[in-house]
Amino acid sequence: MNDLDTIEQMHVPNADGTGGYKLLSPAQKYNRAFCTAEEIEIVEHFREFVNRELMPHRQDMEGGWHRDPKLAKETIHRLYSKLVDFGVTKVILPTSFGGLGYTPVVRQMINEEISRADIGLATKVGKLHWAISVMLAAKRDDLLEEFQPRIAGNEAWTACFAITEPAGGANVEDPALAYKTMNTIAREDGDHYVINGHKLWPGPSGPAELFQTEHLKGHLGYWVCAITDPAGGEDNVGIFYVPADSDGLEFSSPYEKMGFCYSEANTDIWFNEVRIPKRYRIDTEKGQGSKLIKGYVIGLGRLSGAARLTGLSEAVLEIVMDWTQNRIIAGTPMRERSLFAATIAEMFRSIEISRQYYLSATYQAMNPEIYGNPWDAHMKAKFSAARSFAGDTAQMVTNRGMQLMGSAGYAYETNLEKYMRDYKIVQMWLGGAERDRMDIAQGLYGPFKWAGDN
Ligand SMILES: Cc1cc2nc3c(=O)[nH]c(=O)nc-3n(C[C@H](O)[C@H](O)[C@H](O)COP(=O)(O)OP(=O)(O)OC[C@H]3O[C@@H](n4cnc5c(N)ncnc54)[C@H](O)[C@@H]3O)c2cc1C
Repeated sequence: MNDLDTIEQMHVPNADGTGGYKLLSPAQKYNRAFCTAEEIEIVEHFREFVNRELMPHRQDMEGGWHRDPKLAKETIHRLYSKLVDFGVTKVILPTSFGGLGYTPVVRQMINEEISRADIGLATKVGKLHWAISVMLAAKRDDLLEEFQPRIAGNEAWTACFAITEPAGGANVEDPALAYKTMNTIAREDGDHYVINGHKLWPGPSGPAELFQTEHLKGHLGYWVCAITDPAGGEDNVGIFYVPADSDGLEFSSPYEKMGFCYSEANTDIWFNEVRIPKRYRIDTEKGQGSKLIKGYVIGLGRLSGAARLTGLSEAVLEIVMDWTQNRIIAGTPMRERSLFAATIAEMFRSIEISRQYYLSATYQAMNPEIYGNPWDAHMKAKFSAARSFAGDTAQMVTNRGMQLMGSAGYAYETNLEKYMRDYKIVQMWLGGAERDRMDIAQGLYGPFKWAGDN
C-alpha cells in the first residue's frame, strides 16, 4: 500500500446512505415544515444512489488528474443517463406529461444530494428542470406535449440556456439596464423568428452530433434569451427555443476551465439567421418574457445554485470530519481538539443555515399567493440572499476544510481541491455575488440608479 492509497482510503465517504453523521441524514436535515415524511424518504433513497453510483466516480468525471477527455465524457454521459433512468430529470414534470410531479422543494433537495458528488452533474440535471419550469410557468402545454417523448422517458437528453453575451453577463441580470446591452435579436418574419447574435459561455453547447453517444440520446437545444426590437426595452425580451441541429448555429471549441471540467461543454454560440417557428417563443404575453427571465431563469436559478452550493459544502464537511477523525496530533484525533472542533462546528452551522434558508425560500416561491411572484423584486432578493449566503458558505467551508487537512487537502486524491475549484462559478454566474447583493438591497428598499447610462 502506498501513501496515496492510505489518503484515499481515509476519504471514502461513509457509504451507509446517511453519510454516517446523523445530523447530515435527510431525516434530520430536511425540514418537514416544507415537505412530507414520504418526500424525505424518496430523497433518502436517492442519497443512497448518489453514495453508491456517483461518489466513487468523482475523479473520473474530470478524466482524472490528466484530464482524459474520453474517460470524462464517457463517465459523465453514463452517470447522467443513470440519473435520467432514476427519474431525476423529470421530477418536476407534472404526471399529466409523464413526469413525477414532485414539488420544487423535492427538486432542490435532489439538487443538493447530487452536488455532494459533483455540482457540474447536478447543473446538467438542472438544465432540464430549468427548461421544464419555464415552459410550465408560461403554461405552454403544447410545448410540454411536444417534448414529452424526450423528457418523460428513459432516454437521456441534455439542454442549455443561453443568456450571457460579450457585453457582460451581469448586465443581463441588472434590472436597471432593462436588457439594453442584449444584442441577440429575434426578428419576426411571417410565421418564424430569425435569430442573429452571439452568446458566451452557455453549456452544454456544441455541434449536435457531439451529444449523441452510447449513453446520451442527444441535445434538446437552446433556450435563448433575446430581444425582438433593439430600441424596444423590457417588453421586447423573450425566451426562444432553438433546436440543437438548427441551420445557422456555429460554435467555438469548448473553453478550458478550472472546474466543471467536462460536465458542461461551454462554448461561444453564434446565431447566423437561425429560423425557428413562432411557437418556439416560450413567452406569449406582453411583458411575460421579462417576468420569466427575472423570476424563473435568474431568481429560481439562483435558488438552485443555493441548493447545489449547500450540497457541495456538506460533502467537504464530510471529507474533513473523516480526515480529522483519523489524523492524530500528539495522541488525539484532530477533531477532538477544541480549536479544530470549533472550526468544524462553524462549518456545520453555516451549511445548516444555508439549507434551512433555501428550503424556506423555495417553499415561499411555491406559494405566490402568500409571498408574491418569483419575479417581484422582494422575492428575487430572497433568492439572491439564499445563493449569496450559500456561496459565501462554500467559500468558507472549502477554505477552512483545506486549512484543516493541510497538504492532504491540496492533493487531488482527497477530492477536496475539486470542490474548491467547482464551487466558485456557482457563486459567480447568473449575475454573481455583487448582483446578488444589489438585488437584495433593491428588494429591500426599492430600485435605485447606479449604472452610468440610465
Ligand atoms: C462554467 C460556467 C458555466 C456557465 N454557464 C452558463 C450558461 O449555461 N448560460 C449562460 O448564459 N452563461 C453561462 N455562464 C456565464 C456566466 O453566467 C457569466 O460569466 C456571469 O453571469 C458573469 O458575467 P461576465 O463573465 O460577463 O462578467 P461581467 O458581467 O463582466 O462581471 C464582472 C464582475 O463585475 C460584477 N458586475 C458587473 N456588472 C454588474 C452589475 N450591473 N451589478 C453588479 N455587479 C456587476 C460581476 O458580479 C462580476 O463580479 C457560465 C460561466 C461559466 C464559467
